[in-house]
Amino acid sequence: MKDLIYLKNVASLHMDIARCTGCGMCREVCPHDVFVMNGKTAAIARRDACMECGACSRNCPAGALSVSAGVGCAAAVLNGLLGRSGGECCCGPAEDGGKTGCC
Ligand code: SF4
Ligand code: SF4
Repeated sequence: MKDLIYLKNVASLHMDIARCTGCGMCREVCPHDVFVMNGKTAAIARRDACMECGACSRNCPAGALSVSAGVGCAAAVLNGLLGRSGGECCCGPAEDGGKTGCC
């Protein structure tokens, strides 16, 4: 699938590094490879790739992550209809013909 990048510096993703235990779950569940492991903790490496799906915050056992989930694809669809940039979403068809993404 094409590597989508959304609008810069608008993702609501927040990480409380003091809470992170380094379990790696966020890396496992993030569909856009936003996180890297940085020693004993995770780090946000590709914030602008975050589509605000909420998977990381829902699955972080330490409560170290928060994100305003649910607006990423809606915003992308609206931007697309209005002819603005940021009109791409992950919900298009997968390469195998199935559906990908969050909605
Ligand atoms: S899921 Fe939470 S505790 Fe685990 S590495 Fe990611 S931020 Fe840290
Ligand atoms: S909200 Fe979704 S896309 Fe964004 S960092 Fe978390 S898991 Fe990745």
